Amino acid sequence: GLRFRLGKIEFENVHFSYMDGRDILRDVSFTVMPGQTVALVGPSGSGKSTIIRLLFRFYDVKGGSIRIDGQDISTVLQASLRSHIGVVPQDTVLFNDTIRNNIRYGRVTATDEEVEQAAIAADIHERILSFRDGYDTQVGERGLKLSGGEKQRVAIARTLLKGPQIVMLDEATSALDTETERNIQASLAKVCSNRTTLVVAHRLNNITSWLELFWMQQYQLCLSPPPQSP
Ligand code: ATP
Ligand code: MG
Repeated sequence: GLRFRLGKIEFENVHFSYMDGRDILRDVSFTVMPGQTVALVGPSGSGKSTIIRLLFRFYDVKGGSIRIDGQDISTVLQASLRSHIGVVPQDTVLFNDTIRNNIRYGRVTATDEEVEQAAIAADIHERILSFRDGYDTQVGERGLKLSGGEKQRVAIARTLLKGPQIVMLDEATSALDTETERNIQASLAKVCSNRTTLVVAHRLNNITSWLELFWMQQYQLCLSPPPQSP
């Protein structure tokens, strides 16, 4: 089957609008080299999350092209594409299932031990063990409520288990306390190592911490243009 072995991402003159036809992305071009970590920075509404949605093919571009390892993603089956990309979304939604299965969703064949290793790496293992039913605790409406930061760490564990060549992180907009934020960033660093990573960063001080976590030469700032209103 299809393999994106390198994980090079190219946006070339990408144009995009949602159903209402308003231009969201106009002529956006950038390249992320294999293994590189790039931050997408820009004001709220400038289209950062949209770029992530396009890469995951929630929508198709209206013009231009998105390529991974030289292959136009519009020619790749969604399921196949998505098996190569891990997303830690802005607001992680967990399923009404056990916490174990929520993590295992990244790779359904993973063993209990692999699930726990991923949770340890994402720094959420201790928290899970603090629940009476541990990994068998039911998550969701009727089950336990996790904080935004905890949910994001579950998503990180899920992504670690999946082990994709490309990782996209949409940093939470909500304010997290400094310690939670640091924990999340340390976990993210594990997900990102040796993978092509696109990070949506909301606070410039976070970018500084990213810089501390990654090699300088692998880091590039990409300022997305503000939305143009007619
Ligand atoms: P934030 O920093 O607040 O997360 P963002 O840069 O991620 O913002 P996007 O979510 O990509 O911004 O949204 C870009 C623009 O597209 C916004 O003006 C938003 O209102 C609009 N938009 C997003 N989703 C849709 C949709 N499904 N239909 C129509 N417009 C949308
Ligand atoms: Mg966003």
